[in-house]
Amino acid sequence: MPLRFSTVVAATCLVAVCIFRTAAADQDAKSWQAGAAAVKITPDGPAWMAGYASRTEPSIGVELDLFAKTLVVRDSMGETVVLVTLDLISVPGPLRQHVEKSLAESRKLKPENLVMNCSHTHCGPEIRTTGTALDGLDPDRRAMAIAYVETLQQRILSCIDQAFAKLAPAKLSFQKARAAFAMNRRLPSPTGYQNSPNPDGRVDHDVPVLRVEDAEGTITAVVFGYACHNTTLGFQKLCGDYAGFAQQAVEEAHPGTVALFMMGCGGDQNPYPRRTLDLAKQHGRTLATAVEAALSTPKREIAGRLSVAFGTAKLDYAEAQSKEQLQEQQKSTNKYDARYAERLLKELEAGTLLTSYPAPVSVVRFGDAVLFVALPGETVVDYSLRIKRENRKADGPEVWVAGYSNDVFAYIPSLRVLLEGGYEAGGAMRYMTTVVQPGPFAPNVEDRLLERVEQLIQDSQPVK
Ligand SMILES: [Zn+2]
Repeated sequence: MPLRFSTVVAATCLVAVCIFRTAAADQDAKSWQAGAAAVKITPDGPAWMAGYASRTEPSIGVELDLFAKTLVVRDSMGETVVLVTLDLISVPGPLRQHVEKSLAESRKLKPENLVMNCSHTHCGPEIRTTGTALDGLDPDRRAMAIAYVETLQQRILSCIDQAFAKLAPAKLSFQKARAAFAMNRRLPSPTGYQNSPNPDGRVDHDVPVLRVEDAEGTITAVVFGYACHNTTLGFQKLCGDYAGFAQQAVEEAHPGTVALFMMGCGGDQNPYPRRTLDLAKQHGRTLATAVEAALSTPKREIAGRLSVAFGTAKLDYAEAQSKEQLQEQQKSTNKYDARYAERLLKELEAGTLLTSYPAPVSVVRFGDAVLFVALPGETVVDYSLRIKRENRKADGPEVWVAGYSNDVFAYIPSLRVLLEGGYEAGGAMRYMTTVVQPGPFAPNVEDRLLERVEQLIQDSQPVK
């Protein structure tokens, strides 16, 4: 009898376990919904290009089409995140604001539900969204720039609509690998920091991957990150550079999948070697291979809820130059220095010279498995290294830090880079067009940005 009793109990337990597992699997399949889409955003004809101020003519042909891509993820309670990636130089603040406003009106979404990231390809069209950015252009170029932004806005919204239309039960998981073609590009020299490969400089070689599968286990979307400028190329053809080729390779390897590239904190990172199309393709293959390697590692499955937070960090600028100093600089034989001084004087006289900038930060938690932080601007690698170091805990979530998100208005140096000086520390400010940058940031820039990040990480703690 005892034997029979325990057999009955064991059999009952097995049935109970089976029922429990089935219910859990059903719950997993029901708990996430995901939808992904891609829309071509290659300009229809020749376009003035962004990335190098020295270009003197519009694009000649297309090497690789440019895309806007969207992944919408929704949890079991309806919380939503819309990830938009762009094969473009920038996400100007006004472009994000346009998309944000449209999503608020059409879908009642809040700013924290939207993350926009750009690959920072230097072979895409210019994106001029403000009067400041259009100032001084000849009428043809101005008209082309305005028309492109209108088309771009429509195509991004269409891409988002298509992704929402594809929402279906999904399984999410996180995987990662590494790729090593990014190298620090700040080389110390007797005359200051040069833009040259520095094999001893800091890098972030992580390739984080968000894997999205349908209920049958087929991959439908892959989001992958890397911290490196898309500057293999500087030619006159439109092209997504290594990130474009990497996305193409991942999509070819997984037919029907949308591959989205999420730029990391690569403000001070370049791909090396560079300057030929073959090298751009090679770096793309290297990154795609790292994505495949990640996909072959054990999956960290993502369960639970989404939690989103969004806010701005007030970044102070250092004290601006005086009127007299700017008038002197205006006489410079360097045309970029002279033009920058002229723009600053105009702002000074109008009383509109900025003293701080509201820099947006997004935080998204995917269950208890992934803590995703999206930083604004051309953030340098110190930021992702520090945020990961300070937030990765044993048995805690994986930490994924993107840069180039939501408003790419200027380089954002760490305190170290700011004090070292050079291009990313403030030298590049003269080339920024969407908003006239008054000069370098103040030394509290890293503290200000990371205080906001930490606050949002706390705000996004899941409700128990
Ligand atoms: Zn850059």
